[in-house]
Parts: sequence; C-alpha cells; structure tokens
Amino acid sequence: MPKVTEETRRPRVGVVGGGQLARMMCESASQWGLDLSVLAAAQDDAAVAGAPDVVVGAPHDHDLVRAWATGCDVITFDHELVDLDFFAEIEASGVVVAPSPRALKFATSKAFQRTQMADAGIPVPKFLVLASYDRDAVDAFVAAAPHGVVVKADRGGYDGRGVLTPSTNAEVHDAVRDMLVAGAVVLEERVQLLQEIAGLLVRGRRGDQVAYPLVTTVQRDGMCVEVTYPTRLDPDLLEEAQDVVRRVGDQVDAVGVLAVELFVTPDGVLLNEVATRPHNSGHWTIEGCTTSQFENHLRAVAGLPLGGTAALFPNATMVNVVGSATPGSLVDALAVPGAHIHDYGKAWRPGRKLGHVTVVGTGPDVRVRAWEGAEALGTSATKESS
Ligand code: ADP
Repeated sequence: MPKVTEETRRPRVGVVGGGQLARMMCESASQWGLDLSVLAAAQDDAAVAGAPDVVVGAPHDHDLVRAWATGCDVITFDHELVDLDFFAEIEASGVVVAPSPRALKFATSKAFQRTQMADAGIPVPKFLVLASYDRDAVDAFVAAAPHGVVVKADRGGYDGRGVLTPSTNAEVHDAVRDMLVAGAVVLEERVQLLQEIAGLLVRGRRGDQVAYPLVTTVQRDGMCVEVTYPTRLDPDLLEEAQDVVRRVGDQVDAVGVLAVELFVTPDGVLLNEVATRPHNSGHWTIEGCTTSQFENHLRAVAGLPLGGTAALFPNATMVNVVGSATPGSLVDALAVPGAHIHDYGKAWRPGRKLGHVTVVGTGPDVRVRAWEGAEALGTSATKESS
C-alpha cells in the first residue's frame, strides 16, 4: 500500500444540498475518487443514489451541520438558500467554506448584489431597493421606466419564482406590497432583451482563475430552457461581455464556479445576476469542454489545480427537460444521434427540471438534435426558431 501523505490524501468535500448539481458533482468526483459527502434534505434527493456518503438533514439543523462539517476539509454548496451567518461560524471554526459566506451574499440577496455592483461601476438595469412600501417612490420609478418594470424578491427566488412582470400601474403597486410581506423588494426597469448570455469563471483557492466561453441562454417563464455555444455576438459586444464577467468576478471573489448572467440590450451589456456554484448555463461543459464545470468546481474548492476550459467542438446545445403532463420515451431519446442524456432521477412533476440533453458537434443540426432529444423525453418547453 502506498503511504498516505498530505499529497496523496484526497480532501473530503462536503456538499450542502442534494439536488441535481450535487448529483453531477458526485458523477464527476467518482472519476478520480474524490471523497464527497452530501448533506441531502431528503432520502429521495437527486444526489443520494450516486453519492459516496450521504447525511440526511436540513442546512439549518445547526447541531447536525456542525458535527458533519468537522469531518470535512471543505464545505461547498448545491444551492444558496442557506443561513450565511451560520456558515460564517463554521468557517471561523476552521473548516474551509468555499465559496465563502461573503461571496455567497451576492447570490442570496438581489438587493445587495445590485447595490454593490452599481457602486463598483458595473452596468446594471436601473433599480430601486424598497424595505417598506413607498407609493411616491414606486410611482416615480415607474414613470421613468419606458418599457415597464420587473418586481423581484430580494431573497429566496430562483427559476423565475420571486420575479413578477406586472403590466399596469395598479399591478405594480400590488406586486410590491405583496412581496414586501416576505422581505425587501427590488424594483427594476424592464430592459429590452436582444439576447441573454452567461459566462462562467472558476477561481481556485490561491486566486488562480479560468473562464469558459460565453453561451446564449433562452428563458421561458423565468426558467432556462436552452443553452447554446457559441453566442451570436459580434466581436465588440463579446469583448464587452467578457470584460463585465471579469469585473463581476473580481467583485464577488468566489472560490469555485461563478456564473454571471448578462442581458444584451440596445444600450450594451448589463449584469442580470450571479450564482456562486455550478450553473445550468454550464451543463454543456460536461461533453463540450476539456474539463466540466462540476470537475472544475471540485478542483477549485478542494485546492487542486484547475482544468482547461476550451470548447472541444464548434457547436454545442443543451436543452433542459422540464416536466410536462406525462413523461416521454427514453428509447426515442436514445435514438437521437449524439444525444447525451442526463436524467436527474427525480419524480416526474409538471414544471420541474428533471434532466437535460446535450448534443455537441458542428453546424445548426446540433441544436435541432438537442431539442429532438429533450422533446422525446417529454419536455414541456418548445423550441424557438433561431
Ligand atoms: P431568477 O433569480 O429567478 O433566476 P432573474 O432575476 O434571473 O430570476 O429573472 C428571470 C428572467 O426574467 C431573466 O432571465 C429575464 O428573462 C427576465 N428578467 C429579469 N429581470 C429583467 C429585467 N430587468 N428586464 C427584462 N427582463 C428581465
């Protein structure tokens, strides 16, 4: 038996949350035997079946999490719906928390993110943070927003939950009042979207950093349905977008994957939001890039060297499988040439993200086949002509 030294010992990584991101981290970790432990909320969470070690419990069960964390070298996250003060306490106890609670705050609070980024000179849509109802301030903001407004919950929203696009003035006031019951609200100008794009950065524990190529994302009802590489951006806008991603990365300074979602508007590139974890816009990297986002996230948080991020093919498309009324056919999906099928092992439920299909290769047929695969599996979303 080789002697176990600090060099040969695999760090033990604890993942808070047992969703599909943790599942894909486990799939990636199994390739080189990284020691992973998943803190899953329930026994039927997506990551449980393939995780080397599972503890079932809630992230807010402080005694349980404290005991679990002492057995880990580093703690990372499958989602950001956690108590940042508590994880700051875990960090202070000597366990590495990556991303740090300070960086996580950019992803957990839309008000904090917008305020910090605007102060740092990063282009964001015009916004107003409301801690309490102010009729005159809402009226003034709406009057200055030519394309309408979007009302967002400061915390707790994802996949379009917590984002409302009211059409009349009365609806705006109702939406603001309703949302304020749960906490602060961000009122935002509705911008004209030419395209939504996303960039992923990965930062190591020593500040080393790599960036993935930008992708175009398509949203329906606030939920991502399609991701395509490469983006359809002219070189000037591409450079502008890459620059915004870099500047956002410097502000957040998160160890691990940082996803930066951007709006391309007639007035240039604006930041939408950030996620301090592997992200739906990066699932295509599993087949499409030298190193997947999941492997690079684990490398980063474990303090290991980062892997290359180059695209391996001229084209790649990932289409999410979002539950429709009834499941489709795995046999039909497998019959689509080149379709890489990822099933998260979740119970079928309309509106739920259940898996995704990626096709890589050359030419427009790549996108067509990715949609064929997802439609065969029964996705509820429909392909938009390009
Ligand atoms: P979530 O946190 O639920 O992902 P986002 O803030 O990313 O919510 O909003 C979801 C989607 O709503 C965006 O991808 C975009 O399509 C649309 N959206 C959000 N903010 C604006 C805005 N200011 N102007 C226009 N569309 C917006």
